[in-house]
Amino acid sequence: MHVFFSDSHRKHDPHFFVVRGQVRRSNEQPERAERLRRAAASAGHTLVAADAFDREPLERVHTPRYLDFLEQVHERWLTLEDRNPDEVVANVHPFPGEPCTYPEHLVGQVGFHLGDMAASIGAGTWHAAVGAAHCALSAARHVQAGHGTAYALCRPPGHHAYAERANGFCYLNNAAIAVSELRRQHAQVAVLDIDVHHGNGTQGIFYDRDDVLTVSLHADPHYMTPFFTGHAHETGRHAGEGYNLNLPLPKGLDTAGYLHSLTHALTRIAEFAPGALVVSLGLDAYANDPYQGVSVTTEGFAQITRRIAELGLPTVLVQEGGYLSDALGDNLISALSGFE
Ligand SMILES: [Zn+2]
Repeated sequence: MHVFFSDSHRKHDPHFFVVRGQVRRSNEQPERAERLRRAAASAGHTLVAADAFDREPLERVHTPRYLDFLEQVHERWLTLEDRNPDEVVANVHPFPGEPCTYPEHLVGQVGFHLGDMAASIGAGTWHAAVGAAHCALSAARHVQAGHGTAYALCRPPGHHAYAERANGFCYLNNAAIAVSELRRQHAQVAVLDIDVHHGNGTQGIFYDRDDVLTVSLHADPHYMTPFFTGHAHETGRHAGEGYNLNLPLPKGLDTAGYLHSLTHALTRIAEFAPGALVVSLGLDAYANDPYQGVSVTTEGFAQITRRIAELGLPTVLVQEGGYLSDALGDNLISALSGFE
């Protein structure tokens, strides 16, 4: 399989991340992508540097003011007095349902666009995020050219990013960007998100639409972030009503239980009959992932992806989460093997 990567991720290494009131280095570290890349190469996959694109494909998903903000905010931040010297961090946020004026002050804009303290921005963040988006676009173009499946080794991940809000280690929604590329060729595209966290950004971006079906299997938000979204009753809005399916999973669910829920997801996707599929491939459903949501085994990832491959759709695999554990590389090899 063709594996699209970008070296630009390396300079994105956030150290300001808050866990239950404690400031720590982010779990979303450069070593993740390096391990995934080594694993893909060792399994004989073809590594290809992502192509460069202009801003237009990013603007199909994200607002121009958000893209300007991401590109310029670090430099603007450095002009503030008495600030974190390395990273842009939000400390105020708008309130849902209340009047909200787009702020003029940089600190306000940071709070508007960064949804939590897992989305700090350093000097290399913009270039890394753009590089990841280009991986997704390159993989989508490869699939459009008639190659059945391609894998985008995206870092930072993207499925939590909304049209103009970063959160949860995500800045640009790589999966949504791949969808918008595939939509140029196909009237309907589906997203299947198997990261252990709910794909809130992807859901938000497509929530009003009936041309993109979004399906997410994830740890029940009753016990895991993003808490506010990912519930079964979120089914879409306006024209999008019925085109969003959330399948929350109980804590510790094993591979067999996971495959049972996956059947519901795949049945809905087959019924939708899309022209192409984007898989948000998180590997953090793994039993020994630091997030400890559900308990998929290394072999379980191949069972999951084999079932997805049976849909017979042109498929873009987009890397999402999956954190440092001894099996991270093996889990990727297993997941890619299901498509062979
Ligand atoms: Zn995740």
